[in-house]
Amino acid sequence: MYDFAIIGAGVTGSGIARALSRYKGLVCLIEKGEDVASGASKANSGIIHGGYAAKYGSLKGRLNVLGNRMFEDLNKQLNFGYRKRGGMVLGFDNVDLASLNELMSNGIKNGVLAMKIIERDEILKIDPNLNPKVKYALYAKDVGVVSPYEYTIALAENAVENGTELFLNSEVINIVQKDNSFEIITDKETIRSRTVINAAGVYADKISYMAGVDYFKIIPKKGQYILFQKGTGASVNSVVFQVPTELGKGILVTSTYHGNLMLGPNSEEVEEREGTYTDEPTLEYIIDAAKKSLPEFDLKKRLKTFSGIRPASSTGDFIIKEEFPGFINAAGIESPGLTSSPAIAEMVVGIIKKNRDLTEKKYFDPYRKAIIKPNNFSLAELNRRIMLDPGRDKIICRCERVTEGEILDALSRNISVKTRKGVKMRTRAGMGTCQGKFCSPRVDKVIESLKI
Ligand SMILES: Cc1cc2nc3c(=O)[nH]c(=O)nc-3n(C[C@H](O)[C@H](O)[C@H](O)COP(=O)(O)OP(=O)(O)OC[C@H]3O[C@@H](n4cnc5c(N)ncnc54)[C@H](O)[C@@H]3O)c2cc1C
Repeated sequence: MYDFAIIGAGVTGSGIARALSRYKGLVCLIEKGEDVASGASKANSGIIHGGYAAKYGSLKGRLNVLGNRMFEDLNKQLNFGYRKRGGMVLGFDNVDLASLNELMSNGIKNGVLAMKIIERDEILKIDPNLNPKVKYALYAKDVGVVSPYEYTIALAENAVENGTELFLNSEVINIVQKDNSFEIITDKETIRSRTVINAAGVYADKISYMAGVDYFKIIPKKGQYILFQKGTGASVNSVVFQVPTELGKGILVTSTYHGNLMLGPNSEEVEEREGTYTDEPTLEYIIDAAKKSLPEFDLKKRLKTFSGIRPASSTGDFIIKEEFPGFINAAGIESPGLTSSPAIAEMVVGIIKKNRDLTEKKYFDPYRKAIIKPNNFSLAELNRRIMLDPGRDKIICRCERVTEGEILDALSRNISVKTRKGVKMRTRAGMGTCQGKFCSPRVDKVIESLKI
């Protein structure tokens, strides 16, 4: 019998699992995908939002600001890769300026500290490639970027390191309450737990319904992106937003944590909860809209397109509460859910503490080593170093300079997903310009070598 069973190993569930693994009690994390980060947590903008956009008085507004402040320390512990870049919301006329002022006063009420309205000269000093027609911007210093799937993997690995049991490929199909506990029925087995925490992303309404709580619905909202080759991210120094509309935060121009220029996302209500394809008319719209912020980018360097689906709630806000004793919803976690995730996890711990004692474990290890060890060597230099010292690693993925050692490290972790996709999310092998044409067979060989 588990004390806590968390359904869904996205950033919400993995964050909660890690936070609970600090305490005595048995924790399990149940995920229907073959890996963690199978839903929205693998395909989003990766922005650690400043906290001025989410409405004051909402859970989103409060948790965004709290979460943002936790990332620096969290990254020191978990080494997933996070960088503060600063963010700007651009304004082109006085109507936009009014919106920027509204955003700023909302941010002040939310508790955002480092924000100011700046004008054209200062904007172009920070980001010289932006549209010279820009007049104003709301500048927020604490906006950052992360690699969202590496962050989710890091949370889950650390939770497992601290005793959480992870069930992958296990889809929850029913929940039955029995006396003072729950039977969580998956397509594989029945798992018993005293407490159930629903962090099932776009399926959170279905899971909640299984437990008899049906006052909200998840409205899936898709966002599409265009990603450019590594290095192209150097064309912008900050995370560049446009004035938000009723459709969301507007089209964003940013560098990813790993240095790829990224444009997107749009926001479109969709029926299907998992279709993540893209379509040309939307991509053209994104390109046109992005040009308003960054007039020049080289479409020949377009690497790939992708999309993610936001698990928006019909209530308009995050739903984080104990619905009845033992059943907690962490549902409707759309943007800024990635940013809020460490604060959501603490909030869930707080909810649990209200009704039961949680005792800290004597040994909780908050640290996790990085898999990707960034180096700034050119490929030629890297090969020269390997020639000089053949005992050193060999390069498996040339585009992203991933070494065999990094792949072996990824495959020998406590969550070892022995697939190309698992290796790709952990090491970036296959994410480069050739999109895996060169390295895929070599990655397969390393995976095979471990199966012997
Ligand atoms: C286009 C887009 C852009 C975004 N940009 C940002 C951003 O820049 N900054 C930010 O802060 N936030 C952003 N977000 C929001 C952020 O991505 C989400 O809030 C966050 O990833 C939600 O995490 P989650 O764990 O709640 O859901 P998910 O990541 O979807 O995880 C839910 C998990 O539950 C599993 N699951 C579902 N049903 C079952 C079942 N029956 N049994 C077992 N497992 C199940 C799924 O497989 C999935 O892995 C964005 C989202 C999108 C889509």
